[in-house]
Amino acid sequence: FTSSPTRPGLHIIHIAAEMAPVAKVGGLGDVVAGLGKALQEKGHLVEIVLPKYDCMQYESIKDMKVLDVVVESYFDGRLYKNNIWTGTVEGLPVYFIEPQHPGKFFCRGQLYGEHDDFKRFSFFSRVALELLLQAEKRPDIIHCHEWQTAFVAPLYWEIYVPKGLDSARICFTCHNFEYQGTAPASELTSCGLDAYHLNKPDRMQDNSANDRINPVKGAIVFSNIVTTVSPTYAQEVRSAQGGKGLHATINSHSKKFAGILNGIDTDAWNPASDNFLKVQYSASDIDGKIQNKEALRRLLGLSSSDFRQPLVGCITRLVPQKGVHLIRHAIYRTLELGGQFVLLGSSPVPHIQREFEDIANHFQNHEHARLVLKYDEALSHLIYAASDMLIIPSIFEPCGLTQMIAMRYGSIPIARKTGGLNDSVFDVDDDSIPLQFRNGFTFVTADEQGFNNALERAFNYYMNNAETWKELVQKDMSIDFSWDSSAAQYEELYEKAVLRARAASRS
Ligand code: ADP
Repeated sequence: FTSSPTRPGLHIIHIAAEMAPVAKVGGLGDVVAGLGKALQEKGHLVEIVLPKYDCMQYESIKDMKVLDVVVESYFDGRLYKNNIWTGTVEGLPVYFIEPQHPGKFFCRGQLYGEHDDFKRFSFFSRVALELLLQAEKRPDIIHCHEWQTAFVAPLYWEIYVPKGLDSARICFTCHNFEYQGTAPASELTSCGLDAYHLNKPDRMQDNSANDRINPVKGAIVFSNIVTTVSPTYAQEVRSAQGGKGLHATINSHSKKFAGILNGIDTDAWNPASDNFLKVQYSASDIDGKIQNKEALRRLLGLSSSDFRQPLVGCITRLVPQKGVHLIRHAIYRTLELGGQFVLLGSSPVPHIQREFEDIANHFQNHEHARLVLKYDEALSHLIYAASDMLIIPSIFEPCGLTQMIAMRYGSIPIARKTGGLNDSVFDVDDDSIPLQFRNGFTFVTADEQGFNNALERAFNYYMNNAETWKELVQKDMSIDFSWDSSAAQYEELYEKAVLRARAASRS
């Protein structure tokens, strides 16, 4: 094991199911890497624990090697061996856990969506803590994320503190309250937790089914710090409508609950050094945007006859949360208004994927619209750079990263005012917002009319005033969306929790 030298900063360990770029499905992966790096730059010792998936991007892991130790961890009444790999990802030390369990938990060709996800991730949460115990780590903060590693919070207090892993405060971040990972209460027993004791209204019992346990609820109850990914979303989830059944739990733990807007990784997302682009460019020299637009049009077989023809992009998971009906509508409305539309997205929901495949087929030879229905990191970079506008018509959006990435690449966001979009996109026509913060086009009502209004205003600005549009592009590209200020907020929460713990242990 790598030792944890004594140092002035905090020792922070993230236990997560994703980390960009090695194992990423969505924003969670970006957050673990981006926040981790920013905290490391602030002088803290940051380590990450991940599953060793078969489908990781192994070329992004430096110095990967298997350790000469085997960690035995409890599950389903017996001990299972786990190989431990280490490596460096984006400069951060990472432990990868490879179970020798016959269920081959992380050899499924995908991160999530398996019938036994509850088992896979409750198993992983337990091995992660077992690893910290056996490695004699003394972290100040253990930070777990989403329902997949929410088990860490109750496991820590119920099982690992008594075993001697007791130096840490637990921070839990919920990136999306839609995903709570509930399961029949008996399934909790597998990872060693006492289902009878925990299936209570003030512990892990789901608020709407008393025979089910809810890992996210458990993490809210058992963590010292609970965060979500934007201030507006933190407010929304406290209401019956936004909390997906957890509002009462959040409200009764509101003292430890905060909303911190995510940043983006400004090294990975930097148009001035982005190797995925045809031409790099910056706020002071935005001509390269046009060459990227040209390159994307050529790549996708779109018409290049008018370089001023606005190009609207959309990069998203195609799930109801993202406003799929408005995305579909946006394709047709953009064409009616004389623009071009490029969608990069894929769906875990079969009927949505099929619906968009039909639309993609319909437009397969169209001069002005293209749908690419897959996950493609490289293409996403080129679309951010090439597009003039990016649509994010989400029904709800905990934080959203695509609006921030878009702005960094000079693509103006057209977003619904919800969650983190409400904290990062401010309408150019909204007089209640100071002029210097206005950076995009927003709408409130989640219907076609609401969306049309924002899209049409954007087209008018773009078509009728090239100079103002250029200034808007340059302004958006200059906004600081780095992790710096968000990481400072996490740092403050961590430090306060650590100080509280030290004060309590002295008294
Ligand atoms: P969520 O986490 O809900 O999916 P976010 O906006 O927080 O949404 O994060 C989405 C991230 O995933 C962004 O980095 C975006 O560029 C990326 N992304 C989404 N869909 C695709 C895709 N089909 N191909 C490549 N990247 C994608």
